[in-house]
Amino acid sequence: MNRLVTLSRLVAATVLICGLLAAPHYVAAEDYDIVINNGRVIDPETMFVAVANVGVKDGLIATITDEKITGKETINAKGLVVAPGFIDGHQHAIEPYVYRLMVRDGRTTILDLEIGAFGPKVDEWYKNHEGNSPINFGVAVAHEFARASVLDGFDEWKYLNTPDAIKSRVNSGWTKTRPSLEQGNDILKLMDEGLREGGIGIGSTVGYMREGVSTREIFELQKLSGRYGRQIGMHFRGTPGTDVAEVNGIQEMLANAAALGAPAIADHFNNPGYNLVHELLVRMRERGFNVWGEIYPYSAGSTALNAVFLEPEIWVDSLGYRYEDTIQDVETGEFYTEESRREMVEKQPTRPVLVFKMPKEAVVDWIRLPGVALGSDGMPLIPDDGLEWDTPYKELPNTHPRFSGTFAKVLRLARENSIPLMHAVAMTSYNYAKPLGRMGLKAMQVRGRIQKGMVADITIFDPETVTDNSTYSEGTLPSTGIPFVIVNGIVVMKDSEPLPRFDAGQAIRFEPREEGEFEPLSIESWSETFYVSPVDFGGGVPGSQPSGMDAPGIYPDLHDH
Ligand SMILES: [Zn+2]
Repeated sequence: MNRLVTLSRLVAATVLICGLLAAPHYVAAEDYDIVINNGRVIDPETMFVAVANVGVKDGLIATITDEKITGKETINAKGLVVAPGFIDGHQHAIEPYVYRLMVRDGRTTILDLEIGAFGPKVDEWYKNHEGNSPINFGVAVAHEFARASVLDGFDEWKYLNTPDAIKSRVNSGWTKTRPSLEQGNDILKLMDEGLREGGIGIGSTVGYMREGVSTREIFELQKLSGRYGRQIGMHFRGTPGTDVAEVNGIQEMLANAAALGAPAIADHFNNPGYNLVHELLVRMRERGFNVWGEIYPYSAGSTALNAVFLEPEIWVDSLGYRYEDTIQDVETGEFYTEESRREMVEKQPTRPVLVFKMPKEAVVDWIRLPGVALGSDGMPLIPDDGLEWDTPYKELPNTHPRFSGTFAKVLRLARENSIPLMHAVAMTSYNYAKPLGRMGLKAMQVRGRIQKGMVADITIFDPETVTDNSTYSEGTLPSTGIPFVIVNGIVVMKDSEPLPRFDAGQAIRFEPREEGEFEPLSIESWSETFYVSPVDFGGGVPGSQPSGMDAPGIYPDLHDH
């Protein structure tokens, strides 16, 4: 990190000096910092599409015009599309070694809204990235880490966000333990700290926790983020369409969202039952709720080998998959058997695997769905020792191709399947910016759009050639056909060559607050109104009922049958 800080300061200082020396001359000669000439400008909010010239000044889009304009720097965009910078709402690796692959794929903002950062370290996380990133960055507050801290005593924070999960997931308290009331309050308090510090809502990987988390705990999480007006992003448990016996996580999340008026994201719902998830989201939006979903365009997922849902009781017995057909080692390319999985979990529990669970044809179907956003779910590379921002692509450890190819792949599949460009462009940017902006995140009210006055986050691509190149066996190859990327009015990629402009990226966050919103739950406050056990944070008392509902005659049907 230190080397990068020094490098970015050097770059910033050089820019400052050149700017000062040259300022009088340039102001007289040119109107804009950057002009982008003759591109096909696409704005998904206003549905504007036209060949025009775009002038960028002081980090903003200053004009969109068919008149000739001049600037200090000129980009010839003839034949290219000038689109809002791509927004990835689900990128777990927010480290220098990812930045070149991100800009090659057109991404100007990467957010981790699923795992997130440890609550009391959210502000520190942002400070570590400031001046250190060519693209915008942001993070949610991690449910998983609050549980790892309280239930496993995990405190080895190095990265403050997802890469630490590789260490903390060796423990099992965070996934399997139901907290006591006191522990539950501690978890909520840690999360409140992160929200107070400006984290973008809550990220919950409850799909990895299953029986460790009660419905009550999820409800309280959503109530907390809802008090701030912010979303919960959830890797929800259970997938509709595979199993009806377990908790149906999407309906759990959306019922809470409706009751609380709290925003929510269905993370990577490119799974069995996606049509139901999509319909639920669309119908709730029609009723005014700020809920949305994201996908990544691959039929295989990726996770750690010890993920609870890959245990034989769930993966084989309950969901009906065979390891031999579905679970592939990222590094060796070999498929696991029940036995080889068990052996490897002993040796290297969090070893990354590909999980094949959807037909290929479904991918195009997801891209056709209206209002869906993109979250690549890129995972930290393992091992990441010695990886620098300019480590050659082929020397990066292998990973799922969604890491590097998600956005270009959507544009390629849109082209190959006659999906309108406007629709695809909305998916790459506006569909995330709009709902985040709607909940008061100012940085997202001025991004995801190509309009005068908006922040100049701009991705320029060739609609005829743009393509992903990464595959399951080579997951770190850069996308092509995206020659220019601008972040906050600074060119961070020129002629497909990423530039070390570590001064360009900005923090995407809420303003820190003086006071939090956490109110400790007490046994009294629970048992007055709710159907919960006074014993622990999760259990209910079988046969008991919420007050007011036990009067005979209120639900005669229930009593009769
Ligand atoms: Zn996930």
